[in-house]
Amino acid sequence: MKRPLRHGRAASRAERAQTGSSRGRFASQAPKERTTATSQSVTRPGIQDIDALLEGSRWNTGNLTFSFPARASFCGYSGEPDNSFAPVASELQTAVRAALAAWSSVANLTFTEITETSSRHADMHFGMSDLTAIGNDRGGEAFFPDQGVPGGDVWLQADDSLWNPPFFLGAFAFFALMHEIGHALGFQHPTGLLEPSHDGWDYSLMDYRAFPGQPTPFTYPFVPA
Ligand SMILES: [Zn+2]
Repeated sequence: MKRPLRHGRAASRAERAQTGSSRGRFASQAPKERTTATSQSVTRPGIQDIDALLEGSRWNTGNLTFSFPARASFCGYSGEPDNSFAPVASELQTAVRAALAAWSSVANLTFTEITETSSRHADMHFGMSDLTAIGNDRGGEAFFPDQGVPGGDVWLQADDSLWNPPFFLGAFAFFALMHEIGHALGFQHPTGLLEPSHDGWDYSLMDYRAFPGQPTPFTYPFVPA
């Protein structure tokens, strides 16, 4: 089903966490058996455009693992894995790898793919879920590093035509993947916090404004092919 593609649908669980509605939801569950990474706090440097992007947590390593779980039970928590879970399809996996490579090309980060099992868990999971069923009618969502067991995980809306191939550089799907991975790395929406003339996509794909001064929220006039 094609629905109007609102920019906000590429937003994340992280956004709601900023308002306190979901942070800590999974805090009482057993920790994910991460291969390497744990979260640590970030001190904002006092530079407006950088402070605007920092949620407040980061990973303690630049070498992260990721996976495409074949089974929901591998994820280790409830919620997203329980609602129409599906593994990420092959062509979309290729797009995710490309989006991670794009982050690596501009940051001191590596992403190593592992095969998820019941006993071996990546730092970042990518999966499909009926996010609407848990109150998030958006194209995707992601968890900040300090959000407990799900921290670092990216979920994509299972029935959204946004995630149908083909994928290509410049497609909104690629933008949305880059955006969600940004949350999983500790970046928040800088909308209204950036230096006003920088408050748009020319400066950050984490932004909710396409260009400075644009009202939010807005409808993005793009229908995926
Ligand atoms: Zn977002």
